[in-house]
Amino acid sequence: MTEIPEDHPRHDSLVTRHRIEDGVDDGITSRQGLIAQGRGEAYDYLLGEETIPSADAAERAAAAQLLTADHPVVSVNGNVAALVPDALVALAAATGADLAVNLFNRTEERVERIADHLREHGASGVLGTKADARIPGLDHERATVDSDGIYDADVVLVPLEDGDRAAALAEMGKTELVIDLNPLSRSAQAASVPIIDNVVRAVPNITAHARDLSEAENAAREECIQEFDREAALRAAEERIRGGMSGGA
Ligand code: ATP
Ligand code: MG
Repeated sequence: MTEIPEDHPRHDSLVTRHRIEDGVDDGITSRQGLIAQGRGEAYDYLLGEETIPSADAAERAAAAQLLTADHPVVSVNGNVAALVPDALVALAAATGADLAVNLFNRTEERVERIADHLREHGASGVLGTKADARIPGLDHERATVDSDGIYDADVVLVPLEDGDRAAALAEMGKTELVIDLNPLSRSAQAASVPIIDNVVRAVPNITAHARDLSEAENAAREECIQEFDREAALRAAEERIRGGMSGGA
């Protein structure tokens, strides 16, 4: 990877871009993943490349949901695996969630590579390789999940999920936590907790909130869940982006 000077004004964005490129070279990220990253970067630029207060509140609510769940699962795709493997392992440890590989462009080879990659970063018991259950209402490949993974989850964190699948998971009655930089994306719109932030910032911040909330009383976690307002979070992100468009970012 080309060395990017620490003081480059867009250092973090460029490092992120290189991680996705390496992910493609290593067979972890799909080529379509490059396009998704580019779309995300545009929104992140307008958000000011920082976690806005409404996203921080969503990350805290997501942490509370994962800690309160019977069976929390974190869905992992090729972009997320390339961008934040260590942070995913830390999140799973902090919340007791399972990691489940779940790909839009699914191939057995890529599922195995991602599972291996997560294990190299310290994960144990990565799910998603059995492919023995289907999400109702989707075509064959995109519906494939593990019966003891996403299919069984009551709370599922889906970073960068495709809109159709996000809607189908919500339809199954799951509490869905979506990380997506685009507040207008159908994925964000389908979420119980839309987190309008970059996964690179969101995943470690959910973990930090989970560590904090796991020390708190049950009532504090419940309050955090009850007080979160999804409509307000979507609105705040959209307003921030509109502000960015008119030169605020
Ligand atoms: P839909 O409306 O159906 O959701 P879409 O255009 O959003 O359609 P996707 O395949 O879901 O289609 O696009 C990828 C999504 O992932 C984009 O909304 C983009 O903003 C988001 N994204 C890409 N990279 C990141 C990232 N690093 N962190 C958070 N979100 C990201
Ligand atoms: Mg989307």
